[in-house]
Amino acid sequence: MKVTEHIKKANGKTLFSFEIIPPKKGKNIQELYNNIDPLMEFNPPFIDVTTSREEFVYIEKEGLFDRKITRMRPGTLGICAAIKHKYNVDTVPHVLCGGFTKEETEYLLVDCHYLGINNVMALRGDAMKGEQYFKATKGGHAYATQLVNQIKDLNSGKYLHGVLDVDDKADFCIGVAGYPEKHLEAPSMKSDLKRLKEKVDAGADYVVTQMFFDNNKYFEFVEAAKKAGINVPIIPGIKPIAVNRHLQLLPQVFKIDLPETLIHEVEKCKDNKQVRQVGVEWCIQQSKELLDAGVPVLHYYSMGKSDNIKAIASALF
Ligand code: FAD
Repeated sequence: MKVTEHIKKANGKTLFSFEIIPPKKGKNIQELYNNIDPLMEFNPPFIDVTTSREEFVYIEKEGLFDRKITRMRPGTLGICAAIKHKYNVDTVPHVLCGGFTKEETEYLLVDCHYLGINNVMALRGDAMKGEQYFKATKGGHAYATQLVNQIKDLNSGKYLHGVLDVDDKADFCIGVAGYPEKHLEAPSMKSDLKRLKEKVDAGADYVVTQMFFDNNKYFEFVEAAKKAGINVPIIPGIKPIAVNRHLQLLPQVFKIDLPETLIHEVEKCKDNKQVRQVGVEWCIQQSKELLDAGVPVLHYYSMGKSDNIKAIASALF
């Protein structure tokens, strides 16, 4: 079932969902199941699985640089299929522009369709390590809007090399990313919202937000998006702080603000066990307010660990 159909079926009731990251290359999938199992009692109608792009690693060999391509966390589609069948839950593979040609994306989408996966999250991806700006892969897309266009084309039977008279057309429900504190490269919130509107006009069915720690940022964003003519569900994506290092890391990587009160509470902690507790409590309060506001889904970034998400969900669902 599509994410938007789940939202419609819930009839105003807030749903619980989460995002997982594939295990590192060579690791066992059991570790992932061990983290998903405790969350299934909260009946997530869908689970997102992230994708990492390939990274180029340069290794010096006899005075020359040899390029090695690594993808630390492959397996997004395989994991989506495995989870879908093991838990009878819908899965949402993240599909990236960066690192993939349009042909590779088409193959991936065709595979999704064969596997009965009809939700995808269309994303551009970040700049590669050591590069300041995102560079489009040769033969790939430069912006998520172009990827949305490709997926919509496929929905209407239009493949890269011609229209196919297929009797079993794909019918993907498309999610895209939104940024309550604006995307780090966007010159202004206004221009970022304009770009988001372009993704929705191209055919995106719903938006999932970047993490935020102050709900006002989300409420203001939803308001501004509505004013800009964006009328699809905007799902808040939230994450509990788990370690002290997040105080520096999250604002630096995602260009988001942390509320002073939260910083103060974390700084008072003697160890990361206490930080975790503060993070969980903050996230519960955030979630309660979002629930009261009637958000369609509370979507948690689990980062592969379920214990804190379980503690949060237990207090709410
Ligand atoms: P876009 O929508 O393409 O926007 C990128 C930037 O370009 C923005 O600043 C936008 O304002 C601007 N822009 C858009 N269109 C144009 C245009 N036509 N001309 C000029 N500027 C334009 N990353 C991963 O690698 N793997 C994941 O699994 C993953 N999952 C994510 C899930 C969520 C919910 C979110 C919020 C992010 C996720 N990301 C993931 C991170 C994401 O890839 C980055 O934030 C990336 O930098 C931007 O992706 P986007 O799809 O928002 O890009």
